[in-house]
Amino acid sequence: MHPAIPHLIELQRVDHQAALLRDELESFPKRLRDAESKLTGARSEVVAAKDGLAKMNSERKKYEFEGQEWKDRARKYRDQSGAVKTNDAYRALQHEIANAEAEIAKSEDRQLEVMMKAEDAERRVKIADSQLKEAEQSLAAEKKTIEAQATELKKKLEAATAEREKIIAPVPEDLRDLYARIAKRRGGTAMAAVRDEQCRGCGLRVLPHIVQELRSETSEEVYRCEGCGLILYALEPIPYTKAADGSANASSPASTN
Ligand SMILES: [Zn+2]
Repeated sequence: MHPAIPHLIELQRVDHQAALLRDELESFPKRLRDAESKLTGARSEVVAAKDGLAKMNSERKKYEFEGQEWKDRARKYRDQSGAVKTNDAYRALQHEIANAEAEIAKSEDRQLEVMMKAEDAERRVKIADSQLKEAEQSLAAEKKTIEAQATELKKKLEAATAEREKIIAPVPEDLRDLYARIAKRRGGTAMAAVRDEQCRGCGLRVLPHIVQELRSETSEEVYRCEGCGLILYALEPIPYTKAADGSANASSPASTN
C-alpha cells in the first residue's frame, strides 16, 4: 500500500473523534435552552399566585368599602329617627336601619370569607416563590456543569486539531486533497478497511490481487473501492512508525474508480 496510508488511517481516526466532539458541542446550546425552560413553569406559577392574591385583596377592599357605606347609612337613619314626627316615618326608618344592619352583617361575612381565601393565596405565593428560587438554584448548578463539560470538550477538540496537523504533515498534497474530497462526500469517512476480501465500507468484494497490493510494503498505489469510492487499506497495516520513515512524499496518482 501507499506509504501515506497509515497516516491517513490515523487521520481518519482523529477526524472521527473530532466530529463526535463537534456534534456533542453543538448540542450544548439546546441543552442550555432546555434547562432554562424548566424555569418557565415556576415563573408562571409565581405570576398566577400573585394575581390570585391581588384579586383577593381587591375583593376584600370592595367589601370593606360596602360595609362602611352601610354603617354610614345606618348611623344616618338612627340620627334621623330622633327627629321624626309620625309613627309611620319612624317605622320606615326602623325598617331601613334593620336592612342596613343586615347588609353590614352580610358584608362582614364576605370579608371574613375573602380574608381566609387571601391567606390561602398568600401561602400559594410563598410556596411558588420558594419553588422558583429552588429551580433557579438548580438551573445555576446545571448550567455550571454544562459549561464545564463544554470547556472540557473544547480542550479535547483543540488537542485533536493539533494532533491532526501533526498526522497530516507527511501526507502528500494530492492525497490530502483526495482524502478531503471523499470525506466531504461520504459524511466524514474517506477510508475503508479490507477484511476477508471485502470492503468494510460497502461490502463489495475486493479482487485478490488488489488485496495483495494493499498488503505489499513495496506498493505505492492508492486503491479505492469500486463500490463506495473509499480509500482501501488492508487490516494489519504497516506499523505507523515504520511507514513514517518511508518515502512519505512520494506521491502516486490515486485510482479514480
Ligand atoms: Zn466499498
